[in-house]
Amino acid sequence: MTYNPKNIFARIIAGDIPCNKVYEDASVLAFHDISPKAKVHVLLIPKAPYQDFSDFTKRASLEEIAHFFKVAADLAQILEVEAPGFRVLTNKGADAGQEVPHFHVHLLGGQRLPIL
Ligand code: AMP
Repeated sequence: MTYNPKNIFARIIAGDIPCNKVYEDASVLAFHDISPKAKVHVLLIPKAPYQDFSDFTKRASLEEIAHFFKVAADLAQILEVEAPGFRVLTNKGADAGQEVPHFHVHLLGGQRLPIL
């Protein structure tokens, strides 16, 4: 399967569709999920076209990967969920229910989350 450049997150990165932005730098973008599953529900995406977690970890440089996850950790501070706790997760593929074929992690918190 090849990356679909018309997926909704690609269109957000291109500026064709708005998002409720939390953080942006040269290589990553974070924004509030449009259909939040917790009081805090933010999505973090790389700007480069990676389809899912496997694609990202295979093709991105170690520097890109480290930066991405450091930003995820920084976001927990920015969103004030670091101390009470939070969850970071990613869905890859059909069995996990991945809806948008552009790699993203969900950062969830702000409340007691259901045990997985
Ligand atoms: P996943 O099932 O892991 O692919 O998650 C995709 C997430 O993207 C879901 O939680 C959706 O609510 C969210 N989503 C879809 N479209 C948008 C959008 N335009 N802005 C913000 N979040 C979105």
